[in-house]
Amino acid sequence: MATAFGSVFMPEMSISWFDGSSWSAAEMVPSDSIQLHPGAHVLHYSSTCFEGLKAFRHEDGSIKLFRLDRNVSRMIQSARLLALPELDEEFVTQMILDIVKRFETDVPAPPGSMYIRPTLFGTEPAIGKAAAPSETACFYVLLSPVGDYFAGGDRALKILVEDEGLRCAPHNGMIKSGGNYASALLPTLKAKAEYEVDQVLFCPNGDVQETGAANFLLIDGNEVITRDLDESFLHGVTRDSILLIAESMGMTVSERTLSVEEMLERIAKPGCEAALSGTAAVLAPVGTMIYKGKEYQVGNGGIGETTLKLRKALNDIQWGKAEDKFGWLTSI
Ligand SMILES: *Cc1c(COP(=O)(O)O)cnc(C)c1O
Repeated sequence: MATAFGSVFMPEMSISWFDGSSWSAAEMVPSDSIQLHPGAHVLHYSSTCFEGLKAFRHEDGSIKLFRLDRNVSRMIQSARLLALPELDEEFVTQMILDIVKRFETDVPAPPGSMYIRPTLFGTEPAIGKAAAPSETACFYVLLSPVGDYFAGGDRALKILVEDEGLRCAPHNGMIKSGGNYASALLPTLKAKAEYEVDQVLFCPNGDVQETGAANFLLIDGNEVITRDLDESFLHGVTRDSILLIAESMGMTVSERTLSVEEMLERIAKPGCEAALSGTAAVLAPVGTMIYKGKEYQVGNGGIGETTLKLRKALNDIQWGKAEDKFGWLTSI
């Protein structure tokens, strides 16, 4: 599959509408359009959140979803934090399972997968509601078959360490919402143009947080260091999974604040690695950092061994090549 990630869709999606008092029964509808009033709340006040998870095809032909419960509960939390209509856990779970089941024969085999995009937004035609929630909403689950993320070859990324600007408003960091992406876009484009980097690592006031769409992990020998959870950044399911796997391999997991200064000191060591975690790429190695115009190599500047080992361990569970010892897979 040579197409860009997320640009191919299954022809139908599962959809439900909230009319102000209840959600309609979920329906399968064509996925090429939705009708919205131009005054819809989401188009003016960004009342929207989404999720991203994957379904995998195992060798025995079965289809498994990875950490469905975690993604559903994060979706419900995002909705709550944005004052969008409440979503029911069982209802959302069933809509996801039903649409994946409908397109089960289209789920690509490893290294591909079916990317699942649940999306929620306020639909009320009310441009006067700048400071009030949308009474009505729409929730749908869209599917996009994806290929090998590393098809172009696995390479170590180059990132800009940004210690002034913010990715998004700090109180919105743990919400998976389009507004946060919009706010990180221009700084990221600027960094790409200026320094030819792949991503920006946001470190407000020297506090190493995350990039525009992935969490950050520093792997120093037997220790994994990453920011402890608070509302300022997104609580990645991949981050959590990698930490649990690392712990089960006997590694030390340190969830704490990490300063830019400490990070730069540590990456200078030959055995140090850095990686970005997220559903799309799982774990992508970082080989170079730019800070205040200066280039710093992470370890040997290449693809870290431990990064690859952790990524493989997670892929093996997802692809059914290793025992699902954490109980992360859901059958459809
Ligand atoms: C989705 C997302 C991540 C990664 O989360 P996963 O659950 O691992 O896919 C990290 N940071 C941001 C800002 C995100 O939106």
